[in-house]
Amino acid sequence: MKIGALKESFEGEARVAITPSSAAHLQKLGHEAFVESGAGIRAGFSDDDYRKAGVTVEASAADLIKTVDVVAKVRQPDDAEIRQMRAGQTLISFFYPGQSGELLEVAKGQGITAIAMDMVPRISRAQKMDALSSMANIAGYRSVIEAANNFGRFFTGQVTAAGKVPPAKVLVVGAGVAGLAAIGTSVSLGAQVYAFDVRPEVAEQIESMGAEFVFLDFKEAQTDGAATGGYAAPSSPEFREKQLEKFRELAPQMDVVITTALIPGRDAPVLWTKDMVEAMKPGSVIVDLAAEKGGNCELTVPEQRIVTDNGVVIIGYTDFPSRMGAQASELYGNNIRHFMADLTPKKDGVVDHNMEDDVIRGATVAHGGEITFPPPPPKVA
Ligand code: NAD
Repeated sequence: MKIGALKESFEGEARVAITPSSAAHLQKLGHEAFVESGAGIRAGFSDDDYRKAGVTVEASAADLIKTVDVVAKVRQPDDAEIRQMRAGQTLISFFYPGQSGELLEVAKGQGITAIAMDMVPRISRAQKMDALSSMANIAGYRSVIEAANNFGRFFTGQVTAAGKVPPAKVLVVGAGVAGLAAIGTSVSLGAQVYAFDVRPEVAEQIESMGAEFVFLDFKEAQTDGAATGGYAAPSSPEFREKQLEKFRELAPQMDVVITTALIPGRDAPVLWTKDMVEAMKPGSVIVDLAAEKGGNCELTVPEQRIVTDNGVVIIGYTDFPSRMGAQASELYGNNIRHFMADLTPKKDGVVDHNMEDDVIRGATVAHGGEITFPPPPPKVA
């Protein structure tokens, strides 16, 4: 099959869905790889880099779509991109089918197969295709780099001839994939790290990384916080009050707060309130990784860096993986080529879209002129 990556049309997006190295893997599966000219530039891959890897460079998006059987993208496609596709063609990209009913209808109408990388089931076998995790890992790392860049002090403690420097105190709220990456990065920079999650089972992981789990003396509700599939459920009002009380106590002591708390399918819970920001020291930094879902901090402005009257920097960027376009493309490219490996079981360049396979079924949101979202629950965990 011919598989090709479009240049991302979303302004400022630096990632690309196929890299020269992932193209080599696609070729080993028997596929031919293509890219739209300039698709990799912002991730550091020139057209020549692709050509050297045996990839054919197409002059325009229209040319690429006309040529290939499988169109690969990072961002959700726009209406116009899907409308250029033809029946029987496959699209593989982030799609967010739960929030994109109209786009799903367009995909159905065009008769394409749409594979949503955000719908890859979170089961062990599919970890190598889990683009949500690979991107969250990068976001967590980058959130700390942005925080350090905006914090006018060391993260690590030092004893120097010029004076003693205490380590920065970092609080990470939410210890999923992004939160754990933020904890690991902050610890490796030498900060004193505290972390909180509604799922008490992450306490051990937090502590094994050298951070301190912020414990709430509220056992029942904390246990209630764990929902099916390992995701968090909304907390009770009593639990939330207890949590906010704890955060109010911590706010004046923390130099950096990184928030990553999310509940699938809902707006982000507001956990860092205006009065907590006002209680922080000037020069403190908040990085709100939940900004795209409204933010965990009450004062976050999505996509912006703001400085409050009391000198606290609040970062609400929503493009952390794109800010590390080269790395993000490598990992996303790998997620895609692993998915293609599942679709090409005989490594003969022939796609077998096996809807009996839990991973393929779970991620396929349109197929054969039908909307195939939501999928049935996976059979194997
Ligand atoms: P997420 O992005 O949905 O949420 C981030 C974190 O916020 C979660 O840890 C959640 O518990 C926490 N949170 C929610 N409300 C909160 C609140 N009020 N206060 C504090 N924290 C709050 O999470 P994620 O990174 O997608 O991971 C969710 C789960 O999925 C985890 O159990 C993870 O281990 C699991 N997972 C499994 C796989 C796999 O098996 N392939 C891959 C990735 C993640």
